[in-house]
Amino acid sequence: NDVLDFSRIENGKLQLSIQPFSLPALLYDLYDLFANEAAQKSLIFSLYAEPFEEERFNGDALHLKQICVNLLSNAFKFTGEHGHVSLTVRKLTARGRTNVLEFTVSDTGIGISPDGLTRIFNMFEQESSTVTHRYGGSGLGLSITKAIFQQHGFRFGVQSTLGKGTTFWFIATDTK
Ligand code: ADP
Repeated sequence: NDVLDFSRIENGKLQLSIQPFSLPALLYDLYDLFANEAAQKSLIFSLYAEPFEEERFNGDALHLKQICVNLLSNAFKFTGEHGHVSLTVRKLTARGRTNVLEFTVSDTGIGISPDGLTRIFNMFEQESSTVTHRYGGSGLGLSITKAIFQQHGFRFGVQSTLGKGTTFWFIATDTK
């Protein structure tokens, strides 16, 4: 699936579809997708969203979901039993008719070295050969995620401490 997606992105065939969507529905979907895995690994999986006045935002719900699924899949993959994975959505500002939502995916997993952080968004790159050996994977998920961020013009970033955990964030702007 990753490889298919990437060829579509590279060929410029990634269609953006900006429409009203329900933020709670998106969060419930994500909860459903990961609740079993959380239970199996005895992980705490927290979803936090501020009580927004509105439930509907404008955006590409499919792409937002794909981004969150990619980030959460990694968070679950790289966090051992009894760890903690969370997804938080905050509304930063509402300037005029523009909503600015900050999504944060945090985990208490293996973390990423400073050198790894410079490479993980590149195609086929993983943090280290130890990671490749132990966890498998294609090294494509984050390059797809980055391509989606860039197509939408979302700012994004990552902070990590080896052995402690990782936080990915991105800021989605919604123009009504
Ligand atoms: P894959 O997960 O298939 O290896 P990705 O592109 O999704 O590929 O991620 C690239 C690399 O970034 C991973 O192999 C891993 O080394 C590192 N990484 C990504 N997310 C995390 C995370 N939450 N915790 C630790 N390492 C991570």
